[in-house]
Amino acid sequence: MPLSEFALIERYFRACGAERADVTLGVGDDAALLQVAPGCELVAATDTLVAGVHFPAGSPADSIGHRALAVNLSDLAAMGARPAWALLALTLPEADEAWLGAFARGLGELALTHGVALVGGDTTRGPLTITVQLLGSVPAGRALTRAGARAGDVLFVSGTCGDAAAGLAIEQRRLTGAAEARNWLRGRFLYPTPRVALGEQLRGLASACVDVSDGLLADAGRLAGASHVGAELAWSELPLSEPLVTLLGERRARELALSGGDDYELCFAVPPERLARLLAQLPPPQWRYTRIGALRAAPGAVVVRDGTVMEFSHSGYEHFR
Ligand code: ADP
Ligand code: MG
Repeated sequence: MPLSEFALIERYFRACGAERADVTLGVGDDAALLQVAPGCELVAATDTLVAGVHFPAGSPADSIGHRALAVNLSDLAAMGARPAWALLALTLPEADEAWLGAFARGLGELALTHGVALVGGDTTRGPLTITVQLLGSVPAGRALTRAGARAGDVLFVSGTCGDAAAGLAIEQRRLTGAAEARNWLRGRFLYPTPRVALGEQLRGLASACVDVSDGLLADAGRLAGASHVGAELAWSELPLSEPLVTLLGERRARELALSGGDDYELCFAVPPERLARLLAQLPPPQWRYTRIGALRAAPGAVVVRDGTVMEFSHSGYEHFR
């Protein structure tokens, strides 16, 4: 590498993201020293992105940096946690400075938005692979989990579903259509918005929460399974974006909303007795979430259309194309 590993870390990653007073020691020593606030639990998540597997080879570098952090922010959001510190394990085929600059900017801007400091990592040479570990905190005993929902709880999802899967299909030239709709959907794949503030606000309101990374039906099913109940989703209530309907038509848009991955929205359950408080504290027009169904005693996740149950296979991708 023309750029030494040391110089690379200094230039792109020493001052990446937020500066935080609770970082005793960040990038530069053998490990980071971090101060966890008293009365809090440490929340830890990690996710790896492999070129050609989790994003098309040749994706914009700033998108890769953004997504590497966003997927972890989404995991912490689903726990109702507040993110604080990130570690970055970066495997690069070469030290391309233009690529590194854009990557660090994509990651750094999202880190700054959420007050996250990059406190360490590792840099190696090899096929492009990015692993981010994200640490955060939650008041002890108050984290949201997938378990905890009961039959009768109402199920919600934030934002709109299926957009990122359509955006990926557009990136891969499997889907085309009006330029404006195409660009918006590409943005939903390349620069997902993790729902961190919503996750924190849902503490004390939601009985269970999961982030939608593998598709709404699959992830709602995981929430239900962890809670030892089942989920019933209403076909007609699935939140769809206008661009998705424009490109796919309503029926295929609904199918993709159920099966498409990478949206990083939050799917959460709320007990009936807390609904009034939910709607008052988190007005839906402002927080953008939609009631999509309910949990029920019978296990499994099903979709109901005009009063009849449609069964979808777990990997819904076959419903697309
Ligand atoms: P060591 O050999 O002791 O593990 P390294 O040379 O791997 O040390 O790393 C030196 C310092 O730079 C450490 O503080 C490490 O956390 C940090 N670091 C290495 N790579 C990255 C990276 N990609 N992003 C942020 N910090 C990094
Ligand atoms: Mg190291």
